Amino acid sequence: MTDHSTPADAGLTTGEPKPLSERRDSRPVHVGDVQVGGDAPVVVQTMTNTDTADASATIEQIARLADAGAEIVRVAVPDKHAAAAVPEIVAKTPVPLIADIHFDHRLALTSIAGGIHGLRLNPGNIRDEEKVREVVKAAKERGISIRIGVNEGSLPPIRALADGELPPSKESRMVDAGLWEIRILEEMGFEDIKISLKAFDVPTMVAAYREMVKRVEYPLHLGVTEAGTPGAGTVRSAVGIGLLLAEGIGDTIRVSLAADPEEELPVCWDILKSLNIRMRGPTIVACPTCGRIEVDLIPLANKIEETFKSIGKPITVAVMGCVVNGPGESRDADIGLAAGKGRGAIFRKGVVVRTVSESEFMSALLQEGAKVIKERYGETIDVSALDGGETAPANDDPLIALTPVEASPKLPGRAARRG
Ligand code: SF4
Repeated sequence: MTDHSTPADAGLTTGEPKPLSERRDSRPVHVGDVQVGGDAPVVVQTMTNTDTADASATIEQIARLADAGAEIVRVAVPDKHAAAAVPEIVAKTPVPLIADIHFDHRLALTSIAGGIHGLRLNPGNIRDEEKVREVVKAAKERGISIRIGVNEGSLPPIRALADGELPPSKESRMVDAGLWEIRILEEMGFEDIKISLKAFDVPTMVAAYREMVKRVEYPLHLGVTEAGTPGAGTVRSAVGIGLLLAEGIGDTIRVSLAADPEEELPVCWDILKSLNIRMRGPTIVACPTCGRIEVDLIPLANKIEETFKSIGKPITVAVMGCVVNGPGESRDADIGLAAGKGRGAIFRKGVVVRTVSESEFMSALLQEGAKVIKERYGETIDVSALDGGETAPANDDPLIALTPVEASPKLPGRAARRG
C-alpha cells in the first residue's frame, strides 16, 4: 500500500497550520503603498520582460502579473528610452513599481523624477560613491526605498591579497558588497533599505543571507538568480527561498525562471503556502495514484484545480483516487473527493457527507466548496456556471451521508480493495 503517513496520522498536528519559525524582526520599508518587512506579510514580486520603452506593452504585462498575484513589479531601466517611459507606466500601474538600475546612475535619477516607487541598485556596477550619493539624495527627497541587489555574477573585484592570504568565499564577498553600499546609504541618514544576495548556487545564497541577518536589521528580498527553466528552476528556487523562509528569514520573494514571468507567481505562492506563511487561492491535495486507482485521476485533479482557481478563495481541496484511503489520508483538507469506480465520496475534514456519481464529481465538490466559502468568508459563490456537468442532488445517499469514513461499510472501492 502506498504510504501516506501524515503529521496528523503521527499525532503531530494540533490546531491551525502555522509556519515553522517566528519571522525575524526587520525594519519596515515601503514601496509605494506596500510595506516590506516589520509586521507585513511576505510580499510576492516579479519582473517584467517587455521592452520598458514600450509603455503600453509593459503596462499590459504589469496588469497580468498583478492579476496572477504580484504585489510589487520590477521593470528594467537599461537606457534613457526606458527611463522616459516611467511616468506613463507609473500612472497606469495597479501595483508599486521598482526600477532596476545597472551602471548608469542617471537612469535612477530620471526614474525617481518620473515617480517610480522604489529602486534596485547593484553595488557591483555603480562603484562611484559620489554617484550613489546623488541617487540616495534624490530617493530621500521623494521618500522612496532602495534595494541593494547583490548578485554573485556581478561582484566587485577581489581586493589585493596579502602573501599567503586565502581569497574570501563567494558568500562573504556578496555580504561585503552589500555592506559597502549600506554604509554609503547610512552615512547619508538613509535607512529605507532592502537587501538581496542572489546566487544560482543555493548553499552560497543561503549562507550569504544567514550571514547578513547577523549584521543588519533591514528587510530581505529573497531569490535564487537565473534559477533555470520552469521544472528545475522551480525546485531550485523553492529549496533556496524555502530554506530561508522556514528559518523566519525573508520579507519579499521573487522566483526567477526562464519563462513568462506570469509562471513565476504561482511558484512564489506555492512556496508560501507550503510553509503556512500565506494563502492565496486553492490548495490542492492530490494522491500520487497507485495500483488501487479506478478513475483517471490526473486530468480530474487538474480540472478541479483550475475550477477552484477561478473561484480564487483560499480553500484546501483533496482529490483522492480511492474511497478506502482517500478521506482519511487527506483529513486536513476542507473538502475532498474520494473517487471510486463510477461513484465517489465527497468529504469534509475527512468525514464523508455524500456520495455521487462520476458525472457529478465536479458539481458536488463545488457545492461543498461554496458552503465552506460561505461559512469562512461570508461570501455566496454561484457555482452553477462552473461545474460543466450535472448538478449533484443535495444528498443522494442517506446511508452514507455524515458517516465518518472509517465506519463507512458501503463506500465504493472497498470491494475492489478486497479483490
Ligand atoms: Fe492512496 Fe490514491 Fe492509491 Fe488510494 S489510489 S491508496 S488514495 S495513492
